[in-house]
Amino acid sequence: VKISNIRNFSIIAHIDHGKSTLADRILEITGLVGDREKKAQYLDKMDLERERGITIKAQSVRIPYKAADGEDYILNLIDTPGHVDFSYEVSRSLAASDGALLVVDATQGVEAQTLANVFLALDNDLEIIPILNKIDLASADVDRVAREIEEIIGLDCSDPLMISAKTGLNVDQVLEAVVTQLPAPTGDPDKPLKALIFDSWYDSYQGVVVLFRILDGTIKKGDKIQIFSSKLVFDVTTLGVYSPEAMNVKSLSAGEVGFLCASMKELNDAPVGDTITLASDPVEEPFPGFQEVKAMVFCGLYPVEPSEYEPLKGALEKLQLNDTAFSYEPESSTALGFGFRCGFLGLLHMEIIQERLEREFQAKLIATAPSVIYQAKLINGKVLEIDNPSKMPEATELESLSEPYCRLEIHVPNEYVGSVLKLCEEKRGLQQDMRYLSSSRVIITYEVPFAEIMYDFFDKLKSHTKGYASLDYEIIDYRVSNLVKLDILINTEPVDAFSVIVHKDSAYAHGRSLALKLKRAIPRQMFEVVIQAAIARKIIAKERVAPFRKNVIAKCYGGDISRKRKLLEKQKEGKKRMKKMGNIEIPQEAFLVVLKAG
Ligand code: GDP
Ligand code: MG
Repeated sequence: VKISNIRNFSIIAHIDHGKSTLADRILEITGLVGDREKKAQYLDKMDLERERGITIKAQSVRIPYKAADGEDYILNLIDTPGHVDFSYEVSRSLAASDGALLVVDATQGVEAQTLANVFLALDNDLEIIPILNKIDLASADVDRVAREIEEIIGLDCSDPLMISAKTGLNVDQVLEAVVTQLPAPTGDPDKPLKALIFDSWYDSYQGVVVLFRILDGTIKKGDKIQIFSSKLVFDVTTLGVYSPEAMNVKSLSAGEVGFLCASMKELNDAPVGDTITLASDPVEEPFPGFQEVKAMVFCGLYPVEPSEYEPLKGALEKLQLNDTAFSYEPESSTALGFGFRCGFLGLLHMEIIQERLEREFQAKLIATAPSVIYQAKLINGKVLEIDNPSKMPEATELESLSEPYCRLEIHVPNEYVGSVLKLCEEKRGLQQDMRYLSSSRVIITYEVPFAEIMYDFFDKLKSHTKGYASLDYEIIDYRVSNLVKLDILINTEPVDAFSVIVHKDSAYAHGRSLALKLKRAIPRQMFEVVIQAAIARKIIAKERVAPFRKNVIAKCYGGDISRKRKLLEKQKEGKKRMKKMGNIEIPQEAFLVVLKAG
């Protein structure tokens, strides 16, 4: 096809507004996915994505389409994830697109991520087509939502596309709009090759698979390609497109999207954002790269059994191959033994990695409470980055402690403003701005310590606003705060995995609540367990777990032997997630209690 008949576009939306459903309908209407292979959310390939109904990894698919004008087009649809933690994936997908379909749920309206994604699209100079979705629902309010799109985003919405991605109503009009309203790519197939790597992953059969978009030039199977930043040269062994299954092609030219394999061993051989060129005729200027993503949330992951250390390490290595945003390094804990300190973009990212480890690698894990990175300025002038509270230097060595702050933008209906403000104030937030979008919707901006929103802020926000609030955040800077380390001692031994950093004003309350919650989480043992909370070695709270002997067999004395065996097994099962510390057994839940205290 001619370059003028190519359209490269993404679908962007706030989470749950219907991106993936629309992508499914498009694949169906164009006949790309027949009834037989029809599965809900075709593009969400990972099981986990399907179960959680969220799109984690962006996917791209080539769709042949005969338009109403009688011409044949190639549409390259790039699905994007919708959650804040994955906005780095969104920006990659957008860099490979020329236009975007902005899906807005007509029963909800413009939400925080709608706006955040529009800004990313505008940063990439994309043409944006607004689409009102879910008009099959009685609660759809297209007039109000069209007005919001005009007023808040500034897109013309006088004659909007109104669809139901679920039933397929008017989805044909979406395809026509893609052809008539989005620009064709520009680029010259005869210029030196310049292609943008917008995704790459590790496949156990083919090695590294690279997704790219060609800006200029032509690439053929067998070509010697060069990666711009590293100057490394590779032979293209496989060249193809996803349509929707992998399909080999002989060559691809300016404007096209495809994948290649080139005997690359690691993802770093083809970094996302880098430029591919030909070794024989390299381009002079690369595509401007992407911002590097930085892990913001850290936690320790430990095998339940020491013998599972090596398999866990192997599993982490494999996961890292497919997710450059995830990092890990060995660490050891006096309480938990040998394990790993792992870094994540955010909490959802962390949950997903933990779930994947358990699911794909059958790993049994103990996860410690997540922590942000603190900056510790020492009296001797040194500055340390602390990603593990137990590594915090003694108070006597410290000059000051800084913590990351983020800017929160919360969209909320009028009637919940009071409870949102209250929640933000409780989280040590500083109000920056409050704007009325319309007479009934408000955008509230706060600067809040990231640690305060890290754990349950999102859930709390949802429950305080009956689910109506939406939020977006970005890390802005580090600020000096009055922070202290809170330690937990069990039978007078400090347990490093329980240490947390908290604000001084709430440290006493936090310590007391933590000790109490641990008391409830730690089962009775054969001897007394004493739990203490301490700040700078000063004990501020103390709880006891009374001794108890749990004798399961005694209960069914005289019963049949198979029942006894079952009970024993059940008891063993219950112990699996227990970590033995000295002679005390501590269940996994106890390590998470740390999060919920205070
Ligand atoms: P995404 O997070 O933007 O990818 O949203 P999904 O495509 O996963 O859709 C979220 C939920 O909305 C799912 O339960 C869909 O079935 C539902 N949904 C999507 N489009 C429509 C629609 O047009 N009408 C109705 N009634 N539900 C829809
Ligand atoms: Mg989705």
